[in-house]
Amino acid sequence: MTGASRGIGRAVAEAALNAGGQVIVTATGPDPADWIRQHPDFGGRLVYWPVDFTDGRWQAAISDRLAAVGRVDVCINNAGINKIGDVRTVPAEDARRIFEVNLVAPLVLTGLVATGMAAAGYGRIVNISSIFGIGSRAGRISYSSSKAGLLGQTRAAALDLAGDGILVNAVAPGFVRTELTERVLGPEGMAEAARRLPVQRLAEVSDIVPPVLFLASRLNTYITGQVLPVDGGYLAE
Ligand code: NAP
Repeated sequence: MTGASRGIGRAVAEAALNAGGQVIVTATGPDPADWIRQHPDFGGRLVYWPVDFTDGRWQAAISDRLAAVGRVDVCINNAGINKIGDVRTVPAEDARRIFEVNLVAPLVLTGLVATGMAAAGYGRIVNISSIFGIGSRAGRISYSSSKAGLLGQTRAAALDLAGDGILVNAVAPGFVRTELTERVLGPEGMAEAARRLPVQRLAEVSDIVPPVLFLASRLNTYITGQVLPVDGGYLAE
């Protein structure tokens, strides 16, 4: 579970732990977030790996750690960043950074976990895209490019891995009340977004957890290469 220090990643990781899973969580810091440190009751079932996907050395480090773990059944590519920018002015460095975290990291990590999954004949991979990977909005050039790319990646990986018992899907959340949304929209932008949504409210992280867990679970036996929007009706209009 990448990007689990807070927000959607934290909520999904906690739900997986509460369901009895053994969970490896990542975020950038050398020390785990408070919620991870304060959960001794999860015993040995919760492991924290510090990984910064903008650091070119992460692949080798994670490859070694995965080799030591052996096999993982589920990989949820959730870590993501956003920065508002117009196509005429966005610094290429900003775009590259967003692509590294939102697009390159899921591709590389999927490749790393797929070998063990294929050997076991079972795996579930869930990529956290966005409604801005399907539609877009002004100022989202880098973010939308990355999240639309992640949907293409989901389809391509699903086809590469379909013969090995590995199902690959994406969830596309709408506006979710997290630190990322607060940073990008601010309080007024969030209130305005809620007013414009058919369901008249932003999503809570708890709205995103069940569809992610379903696609990541053994309940999903036949869906692959698909995207599931969880958007309060945003794309229906
Ligand atoms: P968030 O609260 O900002 O959390 C982002 C997570 O990603 C954190 O754990 C963060 O770790 C990690 N991360 C950031 N930069 C990283 C890097 N360079 N390398 C590795 N990990 C990094 O985000 P969120 O709102 O929960 O969003 C989670 C995912 O859902 C993202 O992919 C986002 O694009 C997608 N999404 C969110 C919304 C929304 O409305 N919030 C809507 C659609 C899609 P640190 O704590 O170490 O920084």
